[in-house]
Formats: sequence, C-alpha cells, structure tokens
Amino acid sequence: MALFPLFADLKGKSVLVVGGGAVAERKIASLLNAGALVRAGAPEFSDTLRQWAAQGRIALIEGGFQPEWLDEAWLIIAATDDRAVNRHIATLAEQARRFINVVDDPELSSFQMPSIVDRSPLMIAVSSSGSAPVLARRIRERLESLFDHSLGALAALAEKHRAAIKRLRPNLNQRRQFYDWLLDGPVAGALRTQQPQLAEQLLEAELERRPGAPVGKVTLVGAGPGDPGLLTLKALRALNEADVILYDRLVSGEIRALARRDATQISVGKTPGEDHDATQKRIHTLMVEHARAGQRVVRLKGGDAFIFGRGGEELEFLRSHDVPYEVVPGITAAIACAAYAGIPLTHRGFAQSVRFITAHSAKENDALDWHSLADEKQTLAFYMGVSQMHWLAGQLVSHGRSIDTPFALVENGTRDTQRVLNGTLRNLPDVVAKNNIQTPSMLLVGEVAALTNTLHWFGTHVPPDGSAAP
Ligand code: SAH
Repeated sequence: MALFPLFADLKGKSVLVVGGGAVAERKIASLLNAGALVRAGAPEFSDTLRQWAAQGRIALIEGGFQPEWLDEAWLIIAATDDRAVNRHIATLAEQARRFINVVDDPELSSFQMPSIVDRSPLMIAVSSSGSAPVLARRIRERLESLFDHSLGALAALAEKHRAAIKRLRPNLNQRRQFYDWLLDGPVAGALRTQQPQLAEQLLEAELERRPGAPVGKVTLVGAGPGDPGLLTLKALRALNEADVILYDRLVSGEIRALARRDATQISVGKTPGEDHDATQKRIHTLMVEHARAGQRVVRLKGGDAFIFGRGGEELEFLRSHDVPYEVVPGITAAIACAAYAGIPLTHRGFAQSVRFITAHSAKENDALDWHSLADEKQTLAFYMGVSQMHWLAGQLVSHGRSIDTPFALVENGTRDTQRVLNGTLRNLPDVVAKNNIQTPSMLLVGEVAALTNTLHWFGTHVPPDGSAAP
C-alpha cells in the first residue's frame, strides 16, 4: 500500500493554501465544503478569491511566501506555479511535520487528494497514489454513473435513525438484515422518486415491526481453481454476504480477499495427523453451530463442491440437521485447467467423452476400471494424481491404451504460476522425473492433450522437447 487512505474532519481547522489562482480556487472550494478555516497566501489573488475574502469565507495573506504562514495550519496545499517555491514550502512543511499536498507533484507531497464521488454523508474516494490521476478520474466517472444521487439521502436517513435501529435491532444479524432491507427495498425506491416523507414513514414502520429470530443458512460455494476471475457472480455475492467462511486449503488468498471485510474466516483444511473423517466431522459441526446461531455461513471449496469435494456428505449432514442450504457451482479443475492450457476436452474427431477420475489412494486401493479407462476416443482427467502419475500411465498402457497417447500435466492451473508440461505416455515418467511437479496438478490424458502445443495461451508451456516457452 503506497498511501494510507483516511477521511479527515477539517471542520473549524486551519488549512493554508499557498497560491492565488484558479487551481487554488478549486482546492479552496472543496476545503470550504468540508468546513475548513482557509487562509490563502500569495502576492496576487483572483477576483473570486478576493470576493470570498470580502464575504468573510476565507482569509488572505498578501505577499511572498513566509515560513510563519505554516504555524497555524493542520494541512498545507501548495498551488503556486513555481516549483522552487513549492519545493521550499514542502521542505519546511516536512520539518514542521505538517501534511502537505503540492498540486500535481506527488514527489513533493505527503498526502494526495483523491477523486471523489460525493453522496454526502456517503463519500467514495479513489486514488492512484498520485501515479495516474487520469485513471482515478476515469474510475470516478464510472462510479458516478453507478450510484444514484439518492444514496446520499439514504445514508443521511440511516444516520438519523441509527440510534433507534441499534436499540430496536440489538442483535447484529437482525441489524444487518435491516440495513440490507433499507438499501434494497422500498425506502431506497421512495428516495429515488423524490418522496422523502414516504421513505421515512416506511423506515419507521419497518423498525416497529418485531423481527423474527434470525435464520442462518449454509451456502456451499465452488471457488473455482484459483483465478478469482473464474468466480461466478453468485459466488461473489455469497462471499459479500457471509458472516462466517469455512474455507479449504485449495482456495486462493486472492479469492478470500473478495469476502466481506468483517466476515470471520476459518481454515478447515486437514490438519497434520488428522484423518479425513475427523476433518469432515469438524467441518460438519462448525457449519451447523454457526448456522444455528443465525449466521450466514459460506462453505468455500476449491473448484466445484460436488466434484471430489465431499459436498454431498455436507449437504446430507445439513439436511439431517434441518439447516437450510444452497449450492453455488464452481468451475472444476479439469474444465479450468483444460481451458487455460488450450485443450478442448471433447475436440471433434479426437474424443467423444471426458471422464473425471480421482487418483486419490488409487494405487493402494485400486478400484478403477482400467479396461474402460484404456478405451480410445475419450479424455481422462485425473485429480489428485501427483504422486502416482508414473503408475497411472503404466496401468493405462498395460490395459491397452497406446503408449503414444498424448498427456498434458497442468500445474497450478489458472494461477500466475501455471505450468503446462506435455508429451506422450512413453515419456511421461521422464517428464515427471525431470520437472519437480508441485500440487495442485491435473493430469489430462488423450489425443486432445497434444493440442496444447498449438493452442496454449496462458502461463508457461514446457513442450515435449523440454524447452520452456512462455
Ligand atoms: N473440488 C475440486 C477438486 C478437489 S480434489 C474441483 O472441482 O476442482 C483436488 C485436486 O484437484 C488436486 O489434487 C488437483 O488434482 C486438482 N486441482 C485443484 N485445483 C487445481 C489447479 N488450480 N490446478 C491443477 N489442478 C487442480
């Protein structure tokens, strides 16, 4: 974080603006909006500034810059067109530990003024840390069009009734539900149509209604394979509404960063020494406990919750405990890895079907139907196979799949560390031995896998001859 964002209360506080032209005018106008006591210092002043001074809105100090001007000031804005003067002011301000903004000069500034969308009391501020003000202005324009002007009135109404809302909705969840209703419901509608009295009546009537006990629920959300861009809109919404998030090890930090800031995030991955059933029991208990306390629980899983994700067991448990639930599908690793490796899973003429196979403990406890897996014209997607790839390839070949069948190994699929290695079953052991394959990785086997040679587009591609190409 290059700059720390904050909103300052300048009411009745002295702010010095050095400069007397149009730029100074603009800065002073917004300082006055915030109730600051503005002093402007310069050898000459624009007519507008003189007028403001005559109206008693600002004080003028006429003359060249003097160090004493800084004495009273909480903040300083240097808006002269002389860089040497600006630099001098900046140096003195720094020594006096006053925050200074030199207009259009981030190097000399210790604070920046953001681009703002003003729906007072609601304020949205955007900053590029001084690096690209144009970008910040663009974003501001977009935001302007997104948020109706009535939002300010809505925020003011919420502020007016805040104490009553707190008193009549003492429970945090009920309060949150009330605010959701306020933002999405008829009150906002009435304000948009310029009916402030109706809006207030609606708010008061709703507040008087006795709220029912909050009802919790669990939303089982597939987070996809890693790239946050692959979340569905519903998944994003669930993350924004969650009180508690129970997440697996495979869920990327970038995705968790999209959740509501004050949601409690709990890692429920398998802990060392714990077996899978114990982990699962722990998760079941946590889900039910939090939902029964009226919280909105998101159970966040890598990929899709129903593909090798034990999502089904979790729903069975919730159903048997009468906890309401919803399911948001996610993009499963096989689909995502294939897409990001340029491998069309059922490319015409190459494959008529695709199979999702778990290789988890396949070697110790082999229940796979190798004869059918060895059939031609199908694509195989092996999950959880990193430690057994050599063996998987051997089983396929010994049950009749050609040793020249192409494979592609997608490591860290869709993440910025993605690597795709490919070849044929004949050289798979060699590729695995040479490349220190990390988890998570997906093994795709079938004619379509060779298409990555020509269709790859993302991350690093290591072709059959071993030369890495970006
Ligand atoms: N429910 C998940 C799968 C869980 S099993 C889903 O639908 O994707 C975990 C296995 O998924 C890993 O061992 C790996 O084989 C695969 N996997 C998950 N994320 C992956 C990724 N980003 N890249 C490659 N493989 C991944």
